[in-house]
Amino acid sequence: MARIAVIGAGMGAMGAAARLAVAGHRVTVYERSATYGGALGRFERDGFAYDTGPGLLHLPAVYRDLFVKTGRKPLEECVRMTQVDPASRHVFPDGTDVSLPNASRAGVVAALDAALGAGAGARWGDFLGRARDAWDRSRRPLLEEPLRADRQALGRDPYPAVRQRRLLRAPRLAGTVAEVGAWELADPRLAALLEGYALSYGLDPRHAPAGAALLPYMEQTFGSWYVQGGMRALAHAVYERCLERRVEFVFHAEVTGIVEKDGRAAGVELAPGASAGPSPVVEADHVVAGTAPAALTGQELWRDADVRPQGGGGGGTPSVPGRFTVLLALRGGRPRGTAHRTVVHSPAGVGEAAAVFSGRTAERPTVTVLRPDDPTARPDDGHEAVTVTATVAPQGPVDWRDPGLRERYADVLVEVAGAAVPQLRERLRWREVRTPADTADRTGARGGSVPAPSLAGAEGRLLHPANTTRLPGLYLVGGEAHPGGGLAHAGMSGALVAGLIVEGADFRGSR
Ligand SMILES: Cc1cc2nc3c(=O)[nH]c(=O)nc-3n(C[C@H](O)[C@H](O)[C@H](O)COP(=O)(O)OP(=O)(O)OC[C@H]3O[C@@H](n4cnc5c(N)ncnc54)[C@H](O)[C@@H]3O)c2cc1C
Repeated sequence: MARIAVIGAGMGAMGAAARLAVAGHRVTVYERSATYGGALGRFERDGFAYDTGPGLLHLPAVYRDLFVKTGRKPLEECVRMTQVDPASRHVFPDGTDVSLPNASRAGVVAALDAALGAGAGARWGDFLGRARDAWDRSRRPLLEEPLRADRQALGRDPYPAVRQRRLLRAPRLAGTVAEVGAWELADPRLAALLEGYALSYGLDPRHAPAGAALLPYMEQTFGSWYVQGGMRALAHAVYERCLERRVEFVFHAEVTGIVEKDGRAAGVELAPGASAGPSPVVEADHVVAGTAPAALTGQELWRDADVRPQGGGGGGTPSVPGRFTVLLALRGGRPRGTAHRTVVHSPAGVGEAAAVFSGRTAERPTVTVLRPDDPTARPDDGHEAVTVTATVAPQGPVDWRDPGLRERYADVLVEVAGAAVPQLRERLRWREVRTPADTADRTGARGGSVPAPSLAGAEGRLLHPANTTRLPGLYLVGGEAHPGGGLAHAGMSGALVAGLIVEGADFRGSR
């Protein structure tokens, strides 16, 4: 039995903690805030309740696996999950409005044909077929195995782009999301659909490799799921599972350093007042960092050829985007048949990404509107809780702490969301705004950046650092580590780290 210190009670870290405890280790989680869940926050006021982090779960298999491997009660007995149908409604700048059914390729093709014109569905369907090939080729090394030393293999894009013949000129192959949209989908609305997926995960469609096709493939194949009570209920279930497995949690315990002894991680150092005993140092055989650890070690964790944290993780200005969210308390009930998620696409096309990724606010962003059918999220059926979100530049290049900017940008989002919620302004009782500055305060993420999932292609630039580090005994878990950010991906990192500690060098990946 080894002593394992886990830094942070985010979803990746808690997943690793539960799995390690089941393997017989003594696991203690040190969390600097008063609660678990990290980005999975909940805001409640006057009987309204909202997720302040992600609002939907994709790839629920990751959390099903966690619950199967760590106890008797499966996930579905611990939380109430429903598939949202339609999975998403899309409103395009030309007024086209289409609802895409959940996890039904044929249904999506038919809906796109009906709304965008014959042939549009088939083009999207063919694209998803190629995305499935990319998924089949890269799923294991990209998501289910520790990042291999020969990670250069993941530098190649797994997406089988269609050769574009051109009169008197050399044929070309789409290498980025924007090129797939322009050349293969050949309809500005289908291009906006694809680019919207990339942007919603914090990826720049102009540069993200075509392999980002995995993201719509994943959502449209495995479905979009809502957890009754919000994602906070999922965080609660994982926390409860940790407690059942005798994981110990120490809240208000900020880790300020990683202790190194004889060339390996030997414990963590806590901020003054965070430890119960006289010493601020806790010894451990392994340390699992569920947060960007650069500041904790005071030294480089990576060898020369290793993948580095994205977005200036080692210093400088963060460039990975965050989220701007407005929580709306509305008078009047949620009409029957309302789509859970509506995406109102920006007329600016890739101009939106140009703003976000150069550290500016987009004038007219793509806005996602979430309208869950959840009685626990509203005071009664005569009211509705609605969440409105856009991907934005992080705190730093944009000063989201400026109250004037906050309110002005919230006005922009509410205006755009009007396309999804009729009479929104008239129905509004109050609103609450969350910016990347709030995310930074809540999770400790620099600039409130939300790391994107790892992607193959682009010569490995969109991979995240491996779960093992230069310092033996120190492991990285959560959105800042392989296989990257997002609820499902962080869950996968938990499985990988547990496997690496339990099985050691023989570990070949999650099964
Ligand atoms: C606003 C927002 C919207 C999002 N939307 C989506 C979405 O739509 N889809 C999706 O898949 N994902 C989304 N995400 C990302 C997703 O929530 C995360 O990737 C996922 O929850 C995994 O988080 P994590 O494990 O990296 O931990 P985090 O949630 O980052 O939590 C880290 C924890 O570590 C603690 N901590 C930090 N430093 C220390 C320290 N020194 N000592 C002790 N504790 C420390 C923090 O307090 C925090 O509790 C969103 C995130 C945010 C913030």
